[in-house]
Amino acid sequence: GTKSYSFMLRTKNPCGKVSNKLYLAMDDLADQFGIGTLRLTTRQTFQLHGVLKKDLKIVMSTIIRNMGSTLGACGDLNRNVLAPAAPLARKDYLFAQETAENIAALLTPQSGFYYDMWVNGERIMSAEPPEVVKARNDNSHGTNFPDSPEPIYGTQFLPRKFKVAVTVPTDNSVDILTNDVGVVVVSNDNGEPQGFNIYVGGGMGRTHRLETTFARLAEPLGYVPKEDILYAVKAIVVTQRENGRRDDRKYSRMKYLISSWGIEKFRTVAEQYYGKKFEPCRELPEWEFKSYLGWHEQNTCPGDGGLFCGLHVDNGRIKGVMKKTLRETIEKYNLNVRITPNQNIVLCDIRRAWRRPITTALAQCGLLHPRYVDPLNITAMACPALPLCPLAITEAERGIPDIPKRVRAVFEKVGLKYNESIVIRVTGCPNGCARPYMAELGLVGDGPNSYQIWLGGTPNQTSLARTFMNKVKVQELEKVMEPLFYYWKRKRQAKESFGDFTNRLGFDKLQELVDKWE
Ligand code: SF4
Repeated sequence: GTKSYSFMLRTKNPCGKVSNKLYLAMDDLADQFGIGTLRLTTRQTFQLHGVLKKDLKIVMSTIIRNMGSTLGACGDLNRNVLAPAAPLARKDYLFAQETAENIAALLTPQSGFYYDMWVNGERIMSAEPPEVVKARNDNSHGTNFPDSPEPIYGTQFLPRKFKVAVTVPTDNSVDILTNDVGVVVVSNDNGEPQGFNIYVGGGMGRTHRLETTFARLAEPLGYVPKEDILYAVKAIVVTQRENGRRDDRKYSRMKYLISSWGIEKFRTVAEQYYGKKFEPCRELPEWEFKSYLGWHEQNTCPGDGGLFCGLHVDNGRIKGVMKKTLRETIEKYNLNVRITPNQNIVLCDIRRAWRRPITTALAQCGLLHPRYVDPLNITAMACPALPLCPLAITEAERGIPDIPKRVRAVFEKVGLKYNESIVIRVTGCPNGCARPYMAELGLVGDGPNSYQIWLGGTPNQTSLARTFMNKVKVQELEKVMEPLFYYWKRKRQAKESFGDFTNRLGFDKLQELVDKWE
């Protein structure tokens, strides 16, 4: 927590799914026990800041009773499982979301103590699908602690936090390659899901001035038929459980195991726990970033079913008039919502007749206005940082309203148009919660009022950025941005993104341009 007497808690919402009841409960809790705002996170969850110790039990039990959970949102175990937030009635999307929920259930701690603590021993969660229970208890390849209440985690749990995302081909709204495990639905020509490509070993966290720590992209492990996915994920988790480093937390994420072993050895060991060979990954189309902002049909047949509406939330912070309007709308129409991995919100299950009154209500507080969100803000993210995160070195969320504005001002100065955009991500420390190492312009706090500048990510989040400069003072950012954007505007090839441009020119050349800029 921010001070020794207050706590931060995070919910667990696979796919970012939030029921109407849970949204309303969280909205109330934020006012009664938090700091009056709701914070959406980059892992599709709520974060509630400023909960006092004396209120913790009532807050936790309210969340659990409203079918939310905080179980597994922190600690050395599987974190919230990501999946596309879009409530699209399409087989592959539904299957990705169902798989995310099953993986989340598979890797949920089984001990009763959690419930004992918060709701006096009453077990509130709904029943698990039988295939999840079967996969968790299966010990045919020596994966389990058969006599432990935690068959997968045992008493030691995992060496470190563990992150999983599931998606469908082309939809990279989940930053798939930044996860320990990335799972992608593969369908046949009729759109029927058949199996999954699995990628392993992604992760963002690093430590300043320690070259042996690094951000890393996940790489292909292999393909599995759909009925095997829980066994395959379990085999990967067990490989990390048995072999990940436990002597130094800086090196205990699975990415370090894979980078020291190499993918071949990792695959061989995981196959022993899986009991089969992984098939080669299937060829997939290019990734794209999807924001889901604005109005969309839920069903792929237009006119057949409800609508959904994605709303941009600056830094994921719902507050003030936006908080009030969202609450009224969600309550009045009994809407379910979803949180996106970009800290935005999607209102779901909207009947056609409600579109007009909802549009009016949202428009009255400025939401949905075409210029409500600068295109730069749509892809910009910042972690909470100061004053809310104890690890923060530099401002992120508090400083970010400023940063896209300053980028916009530089764009105008060098003649870049309003509809041009780049991916900006800012974090207060190298832990990288807002995934800055995938940004086209990443700012990572490295001292009081100073940032490391990272360049080289791409708009579809498939390439890793690299450090361009260190210790750039906040007030001096323009001195770096101006020459970069000036030359991007003048020297780019047709439709070349800023990230591709910086990679093509090379950092030495860019540094030269920055150094001689007047
Ligand atoms: Fe805190 Fe660092 Fe994560 Fe920001 S990136 S929320 S400062 S741990």
